[in-house]
Amino acid sequence: MIPDSSRPPSIVRAQRPADPHVLVIGAGLGGLCLAQGLRRAGIGVAVYERDASPAVRAQGHRLHINAAGRRALAANLPPDLFALIGSMAGRPPARVSGFDDQLRPTGVFDLDEDLAPDQDLDRIMPAHVVIDRRALHRVLLEGLDGVVEFGRHCVGYEVDRAVVTARFADGRTARGTLLVAADGIGSRIRAQRLPHARVVDSGARLIYGRVPLTPRLRAELPRAMFSVFNSVVGPGQRFLGIAPVEYRERPSAAAARLAPQVDLGSAHDSLAVMFGRRRELLGLGDEELRTAPGERLRDVVRGQIAAWHPLLRRIVAEWDASTLYPVTVRSSVPVPPWASSNVTLLGDAVHAMSPAAGAGANMALRDAAALAASLAQAAPGAPLADVVRDYEKHMLKEGFDAVRRSSANGVRTLGEDPLPT
Ligand SMILES: Cc1cc2nc3c(=O)[nH]c(=O)nc-3n(C[C@H](O)[C@H](O)[C@H](O)COP(=O)(O)OP(=O)(O)OC[C@H]3O[C@@H](n4cnc5c(N)ncnc54)[C@H](O)[C@@H]3O)c2cc1C
Repeated sequence: MIPDSSRPPSIVRAQRPADPHVLVIGAGLGGLCLAQGLRRAGIGVAVYERDASPAVRAQGHRLHINAAGRRALAANLPPDLFALIGSMAGRPPARVSGFDDQLRPTGVFDLDEDLAPDQDLDRIMPAHVVIDRRALHRVLLEGLDGVVEFGRHCVGYEVDRAVVTARFADGRTARGTLLVAADGIGSRIRAQRLPHARVVDSGARLIYGRVPLTPRLRAELPRAMFSVFNSVVGPGQRFLGIAPVEYRERPSAAAARLAPQVDLGSAHDSLAVMFGRRRELLGLGDEELRTAPGERLRDVVRGQIAAWHPLLRRIVAEWDASTLYPVTVRSSVPVPPWASSNVTLLGDAVHAMSPAAGAGANMALRDAAALAASLAQAAPGAPLADVVRDYEKHMLKEGFDAVRRSSANGVRTLGEDPLPT
């Protein structure tokens, strides 16, 4: 048995050599999806989250889940929770529509047009959906009472052969056989495990928020704008991203029908809208960007698009100031493989990327499913480092391919600096 100084004895599982006890640092999308998959496989898991509660951070506004994210959710979640996501998530046409600043179409990019249908999954959820990020986070937390602990800020770890000990800011520790860094772009675990791995500032800044999708606005938006994503590129590398978040079924109604234990609260259709430009062209220094109230951020963007099409100006004018926040666009720099051990990483903790390809969360979910499957399918007695090596091989290839793809998109649309070589 692995004693754990932080947990009541009833939830510390009996440990056999081939039965890992997994410590996950971070209850973001990747960490929670991993915990769900491990629970389904009967593998002991505990998740430690720095935030005091799930309500502390607005979990962002909206996510596009692609075929890889869908596969991961289907593999790791209990069927009722997967069906709940499939039922409420919006199903816009699977394309990205391009426009110029006068709202003239500049092209349409079909997403995965050659994707082979998967009829079993398609019946529940198509390969591309759009979902409110907070709702997805809430669903991923379901059933993890006693598994996730909030207010636990991990500050480092120690490895003593087969046992890894996580240390927390409150002085407590937790012991397991595998430590997984799912602690996002600023990962403390990565800083210790891979001190040579770098995260760089791409030079681009985003201002991100919601616009209520009122009946009037809905009627005025061109049909083509009800795509997964709309990319408006104006002169001087100004970028406006517009993404409808339309529920297919009211989240509360879908939950009542499919998973009554999940409380999703009220939710309204909206547009997730982000403006992006290079920091030196934004007219706002980093310090002011970080501290400015939403109204000021909105005014800055209104100034930036003063000569754009009236509908685009209206959308920005209707931004709900209380939802606005700035994003510094950063990216990891791909690193070569390392010697695997009982400390591994997933998602943004290892391959954080520019949001320009909308891929980061999908990759975090994909990693979570791959790691859960590797652990669940490992031959009895297989050395943990071998299991982790197999996971890391594919995770690094797919994760850093997505980092490079996202960076190339960001260079084109947001004027990001190219990735350093
Ligand atoms: C504007 C924007 C739009 C995006 N849109 C999309 C999209 O449409 N589709 C997509 O796939 N991706 C998108 N992304 C990317 C996506 O948000 C991230 O890639 C994804 O959230 C990564 O998930 P994660 O679980 O790895 O990390 P995170 O979601 O960052 O979770 C990390 C968790 O770890 C916790 N933590 C951190 N440090 C510690 C510590 N020391 N101890 C304990 N806990 C800790 C944090 O509080 C957090 O809860 C977007 C990103 C941005 C900025």
